[in-house]
Order: sequence, then structure tokens, then C-alpha cells
Amino acid sequence: MNFRFKALEKALSHEPVPVNTISSKISEYYGQNVFDKEMMRSTLSADIYEQLMKTIEKGSRMEPHVAEAVASAMRSWAIDKGATHYTHWFQPLTGATAEKHDSFFEPGSDGRGIEKFKGSALVQQEPDASSFPSGGIRNTFEARGYTAWDPTSPAFLMENGSAKTLCIPTVFVSYTSEALDYKTPLLKTLAFIDKAATLVCQELFDKNVTQVKASLGIEQEYFLIDRAIYQSRPDLVMAGRTVFGHAPAKGQQLDDHYFGSIPTRVHNYMVELEMEAHKLGIPIRTRHNEVAPRQFELAPMFEEANLAVDHNQLLMDLMDKVAERHNFKVLLHEKPFANVNGSGKHNNWSLITSTGKNLLAPSSKAKENLQFLTFFVNTIKAVHEYNGLLRASIASESNDFRLGANEAPPAIVSAFIGSQMTKVLNELEKNSTIEIEKGDNMYMKLGINKIPPILLDNTDRNRTSPFAFTGNKFEFRAVGSSANSASAMIVLNAIVGQQLLRFKADVDKLTSKGEKKEMAVIKVLRRYIKESKDIRFEGNGYSDEWIAEAERRGLTNIKNTPEALDEYLTDKAKKLFVDNKLFTEVELEARQEIRLENYIMRVQIESRIIGDLSQNHIIPAVLRYQHQLVKGLNGMKNIGLELEGSVAYETVTEISTHLNTVKTLVRGMIEARKAANKIENTREKAIYYKDIREQYFSQIRYHVDKLEFLVDDSMWPLAKYREILF
Ligand code: ADP
Ligand code: MG
Repeated sequence: MNFRFKALEKALSHEPVPVNTISSKISEYYGQNVFDKEMMRSTLSADIYEQLMKTIEKGSRMEPHVAEAVASAMRSWAIDKGATHYTHWFQPLTGATAEKHDSFFEPGSDGRGIEKFKGSALVQQEPDASSFPSGGIRNTFEARGYTAWDPTSPAFLMENGSAKTLCIPTVFVSYTSEALDYKTPLLKTLAFIDKAATLVCQELFDKNVTQVKASLGIEQEYFLIDRAIYQSRPDLVMAGRTVFGHAPAKGQQLDDHYFGSIPTRVHNYMVELEMEAHKLGIPIRTRHNEVAPRQFELAPMFEEANLAVDHNQLLMDLMDKVAERHNFKVLLHEKPFANVNGSGKHNNWSLITSTGKNLLAPSSKAKENLQFLTFFVNTIKAVHEYNGLLRASIASESNDFRLGANEAPPAIVSAFIGSQMTKVLNELEKNSTIEIEKGDNMYMKLGINKIPPILLDNTDRNRTSPFAFTGNKFEFRAVGSSANSASAMIVLNAIVGQQLLRFKADVDKLTSKGEKKEMAVIKVLRRYIKESKDIRFEGNGYSDEWIAEAERRGLTNIKNTPEALDEYLTDKAKKLFVDNKLFTEVELEARQEIRLENYIMRVQIESRIIGDLSQNHIIPAVLRYQHQLVKGLNGMKNIGLELEGSVAYETVTEISTHLNTVKTLVRGMIEARKAANKIENTREKAIYYKDIREQYFSQIRYHVDKLEFLVDDSMWPLAKYREILF
């Protein structure tokens, strides 16, 4: 029996795995594995706690004795809960998370030993960084990097079977202090947008605002398939996606999966995942089916952006671990199956003040709407100004399969704002003769007093838009399901922060000439609305007309990662990042290098898998079938039957044509790879690999999928789409 049928048999034997629920009340275990503020307050002295809060909230330096006290409290808490090891948990540029476990236990000279965890070990560690990508930074500068605690993200206990590890969220930087991770620049851009937004609030709208935090709610889409079947597909194992597979008779055209009932096996998995997430204080709320078969989505409540990113990274890890217990495999790849919807990670983003106000929520108070419009219009303006950079922020080899594939946002970044907000902006733009008046009169004349706090048309939002206003937040929908959201959030925070600073300067210019503050704000906004009109698009983002129209408007439409990444190194991007001290030029270049290398590696792996599967699985199986047919044809000939025109004859001919083409294409692809590997320059090499991908992948697939359709089902070596998905 071939491997495919063994896997299918195994999959059929998989029963729902029962969940050992801790309690029916989530509140009883929510956050139990987090060393959160509550825990800090109860285990630290009042003085130490206060100093730690200063570090967390104001970013002030942590004194060694504070670190010592916190480490000691953390250790006791963790050991009481059964932890034996601790690790600095960080987000290297590979996309995953990394950990290096150290034992609390230290052998002593007395032949015994003691559980230790020093303040210095909390604050700083030196993981062996040589295996993490650094884009050449470490080669040129210093061979090592270090991790350092990010106290704004609480430490947590990771359970793995009976083993428990204290995980400390950290940044990861080189000895020459270049960021080697996602968290460092994310924290920098969060501080940057905080400063810019607070300045705008304080000086133009509300003196009481002392801080503005970016909030983020990350919706995560994923596929969940049987583990045995997953393991029978080398392409899924090696590349995270199927490189071959004929479309099944039934796809998603019936839409019967979406919001359908969740099967027990999957339901149990979700229940356990939510329980594990809740123990770690990850505020998961909803679960439902997605459009494609075996596709699901999970959404947490929004949180402060840094924490939301950490939680999403942690969640992706948890999903995988819990799935294993339920004999499932989670696929986070953006496009695991051709002709089936891909997966994204919708980033819901907003700005919230220290006074608790959502700056992107319209208000029933006319006056507050000017503040709302300020942040709203500036965001649109920033997206217009830097749409190429936003595109670059979501670029990855796997997301390239999804963007513009007619079920995901196109590679063109545009903003959808809905008909009500369109009306508001139009009105604001045309009323140019308004005078400052007392009361709400002015706002009425401007048409901005009557923005309904709940924008009804935005709930039924345009699913084809990559960046949509959804009533009280923007939703960046083009982020890939496997991505670290920090990449997109770094750019979004940076561009909006920059735009807010420009806005403040533009308003100041007018007020210094004697213009009243409100009038100055209105005038500048009016100009911005005009200038950024081209980024606004309410129509069908999948249509060909939009592609042509976007080109006329001068919007970028970059279809592949290597070219998208160039956007990080334009003069404009460098000015944004370097002048605001968010990245150094060295960091920008290193990051581009790392992402290009990552791209090359992935295409290379896929290309190898396509080659291997073709040569070692597909071709031999097809030849066996062909041989059978030929034997049959010989038999037919012996008894004097006409061969030409017979089914066997035609099948053999058809099979031979596809088989020869596969063989020729694979040979060509291997030669092309050899040529690509001779290229020194990383960008050129990446472009060459992109060409290989475009030239060979879908072509080879086309012929293999045809063969799947022709060959005797019992001889086909790979699990078919209907078996994986239904
Ligand atoms: P929908 O997606 O249907 O519009 P939700 O309100 O459930 O509705 O939003 C989806 C995601 O957006 C959730 O993760 C939610 O927590 C998040 N979200 C809601 N409000 C905000 C906000 N002010 N800032 C950031 N994210 C938000
Ligand atoms: Mg959404």
C-alpha cells in the first residue's frame, strides 16, 4: 500500500481528543501563567514596584537593585509554579520566535547546588547569535549579539507537557547596538508615534493627554488539516504549501463552510487552544470557520500594539503545539492550496489616548470630531505618501502567492473609507468659506458635526481593500498569515507619526501668521484631503479597471518581494527612518539583505521540492501506470484489436506528452538554479529566483495536475486535495 493510503487510513482513525478543561469559568485561570502587574504588585515591595512601573510606563532606566528584586520575585513565582528553566524569548528576523533555555539550578561547591536567577540574567543575556540572520551586521562589526528584557511585555510560563519554562520577552541587538529583531524597531516606532500624537493632542485639542498608545487587534486565519495526511505530503512538510494538486470536484463555491458548524474534532482543538491562550493572558474571543474548507479564524481583543504582537507570535506557537495533541497540523502559509482562498492576518489598528479616548472613533460631540478627523485624514495622507513602503512591509515569498490572487487584497495599497466618511471628507473639502463661530455652528456648516458614532456602512466593509476604515480603527488586511505583524506595524506607526509631525508644523505655520487654531487645522486638513485623494478607492480592488486606474494615479503595484523591498532604501524611506532615528542606514540595508536571503532560500526549497516530487514520486508512478497500459495495448494487439482511437492508446499518448514536458521543465529549472547560484549580488540573485518561480512553478504544476487526473487513482502517490480538505 502506498504511503498516501496508509496516511488516509491513519487519518480516518483519528477520533476527537477530549479536552481536560480546568474550569468552566475562564476568569478562574485567565492569566495564571503571566507574571503580570497584579503579580508584581503582590510580590514586590512598594518602592521597587513603583520604580519598575516608572520603567514600564515612562521608559526610565532600570537600576540594578530593582532588576535584582524583580528577578528574585520572578524566580520564586516561576519555581513555585514548577518551572525549572528560564529563557530570553525574542523575535529574530527569521519570522519565528527563538528561545535559549537555561536552568535555574546552579551546582555549588558544597556538592549540592541552588536555584538562582540573577538580576543581570533578567536584564541581559548573550544567546549564541551566530545562527540568526544579521544581514552581515555581525560579520562587519561584532560577532555577538545580546538580548535584553522588554519590561513592557510581561514574563510568562510556557508549559510543554510537564516541563515549564519562564519566558522573558526581550529585544535582540548586536554588540554595536543594531537591531537584529522585530521588537526593537517596533518599540522605537511606538515611542515615535506616541510622541507625535501626544504633541498634536496636547497642543491642538486636549491638554490632558499625556500619552498615546497604538492599539492592535490581530485576526489570525489558518488551515487545520489532519497530521497524518500532512506528513504524507513532502511539499507541505518542507515548504508549508502544496506545490501540486488538482482542484477537487467541489471547492468553496457552495460557501457551505463559512460560518457553518465546527466539527467536534476541530472544536476540541479550539477549546484547548483558547484555554492555553487564556492561561497566558492572550484575550482570544471569537472562533469561526473561514471561507475555504478547513480554514478557520481566531481573533483576540485588541491590546497595546507591542503586547498584541508578542501575543500573536506566542499564539502561532501555541496553535502548533495544541494541534499536535489533536493530531492536526496548523498551516500558517498564506497560500497552502492553489485555487482555494489564502490566509491573512488582519491588523486592526488605532490610537488610544491616556485619557481613554480612541482617536479614530467619531464622536457624538461636534468638537471632538475635528480631532477624530485630524487623525483620520493624517492616516490616509500617510498611507498615500508611503503606499510603496506599506507594500514592502508585508512582502514575503509566501504572501506573494496571495496578494492579488483575487481573494486577497491586491498588491496595490489603497484605502477604503466607506460612503459616510467619503461624504464627510467631500463636505469638509468644499466648504472653504467657513468662519470660526461660537458653539457647534461651525462644525455644522462644515458637515462634521453629524458623523454618526457608529458608521453603519463600514461594518459591511469592502473585502477587496487592503487598508480599510472599519468605523473606529483601520484594518490592514494585506498582512500575511505567517508574518510577524511588527513588520507592518513598524511602517504604519512610523509613517503616521511622521505625518502627524508634518501636520503640526503645517498648522503652526498658519497660526504663526495669525490664523486661529481651529481654522488652521481645518485648512491643513482640507489641503491633505485634496492631496491624498488618489489613495482612496471604494470600488472592487480585484478588477482590471482598478489596476489601470491605480497606475494612472501613480500608486505602486509591486507584484514580488525582491522589488517591493527596494522601497525600504529609497531616499524618502531613508529620510523617514534615519532622520527620526528609527533605523540606521546600516540596519535598513541589513534588513533588506536578510529578507532577500530569506526569499531566495524559500524559492530554492520550493524549487527543490518541485524537482524531487516530480522525479522521485510523480514520474515513477506515472511510468508504472503507463507501463500497465502499454502491456494492455500489447494484449489488445495480440487479439487483433485496433489500437489507435482506443482509450488506452489515447491515455498513453496524453500521459507521454505531459510526462515529457514535466521532465523537460524540471531539467530547465535545475539548470536555471545553477545559473542563479553563481550570482554574487543578493538582489540580483533574488530577482533571478523570482524569474525561476514565475517561469517554472505553475507550468510544471499544470502538467503534473493533468497527470493526476489521468493516472489510476490507486497509483497516485500524493494525497489529493479532496482528501486533505474534506
Ligand atoms: P469586525 O472585524 O467585525 O469589524 P471586531 O470589533 O470584532 O469587528 O474587530 C476585529 C478586531 O479588531 C478584534 O481583534 C478587535 O479587538 C479589534 N479592534 C476593535 N477595536 C479596536 C481598536 N480600537 N483598536 C485596535 N483594534 C481594535
Ligand atoms: Mg477582519
